[in-house]
Amino acid sequence: MGSHLTQALLADDHIVTGIDNFSTGKRENLTDFIDDPHFKFVEHDITHPFDLGRVDYIFNFASPASPGEYMRLGIETLMVGSHGTLNVLELARKYDAGFLQASTSECYGDPLVHPQREDYWGNVNPVGPRSVYDESKRYAEALTMAYYRYHGVNTHLVRIFNTYGPRLSVGDGRVVSNFIAQALRGEDLTVYGDGQQTRSFCYVSDLIDGILRLSRSSEHLPVNIGNPHEMTVLECAMEVLAATNSRSKIRHEALPQDDPTRRRPDISKANALLDWHPSIDLRQGLQLSLEYFRNLIEQETAAKTG
Ligand code: UDP
Repeated sequence: MGSHLTQALLADDHIVTGIDNFSTGKRENLTDFIDDPHFKFVEHDITHPFDLGRVDYIFNFASPASPGEYMRLGIETLMVGSHGTLNVLELARKYDAGFLQASTSECYGDPLVHPQREDYWGNVNPVGPRSVYDESKRYAEALTMAYYRYHGVNTHLVRIFNTYGPRLSVGDGRVVSNFIAQALRGEDLTVYGDGQQTRSFCYVSDLIDGILRLSRSSEHLPVNIGNPHEMTVLECAMEVLAATNSRSKIRHEALPQDDPTRRRPDISKANALLDWHPSIDLRQGLQLSLEYFRNLIEQETAAKTG
């Protein structure tokens, strides 16, 4: 998401500094704009304080975000959401910069209210395996609101729902990247549980458009950005098989603990405040993503065959 956001900002004539410690991100994702004279890159873990000089705006997307990755990097995930968010909020305060914190639908946990509105407080297991991410993001929201309330920082909170598109990492365990990679390799698609749990998938360019609108707004409370078209994981698998013309089969595997049963954003707030509406459905979004995934799988095959 950071690389897509960077490209949108550069296209809008901004000067951008990207910061990443590559704990889960990939340097290759910078290739398209690394030589842009308006772009600078610094390799750093924002858990440790830093200062790169005056900035007008800070977008804080730093965190592992895939369940497999944040459970592997549990302590780091908690540290970046707490210490990391504090460090960047301090910079926003120092330079009187705008600030947008990437939060998540995971704040709603396994929701008892459906679809999820921003005023629903959620159903999170605070000590379960996913809590390293959920509670880190909930704390980051609380800290961001505190910097708005106590220090008057111009903060924004976006709750991001499942997003996909080019530059998703193959192998980080997320459902869309797993299914596409499996379909292209001719492997079985791994559906966890019975596949009746639901998600709502947003194409990355729609998400970035919503985030930019929010960053320019005067709304300080959380805003959901996601595609409200809800489908079961099994339906998502069928869409991927159709998009890739794959003859792969479905294989059911164990459902991870505390896997949310249903998830769909209520986006009436984003509609009303930001005039934001997603425009790309899963079928179109998969087509827009396929070339990227095909290239990756081809490189993988070439590397294997030497
Ligand atoms: N999932 C699946 N097969 C996979 C990866 C994920 O069935 O290979 C399911 C997972 O159990 C969850 C949904 O797909 O119900 C979305 O998982 P993902 O890890 O992409 O993100 P989450 O929404 O859980 O954060």
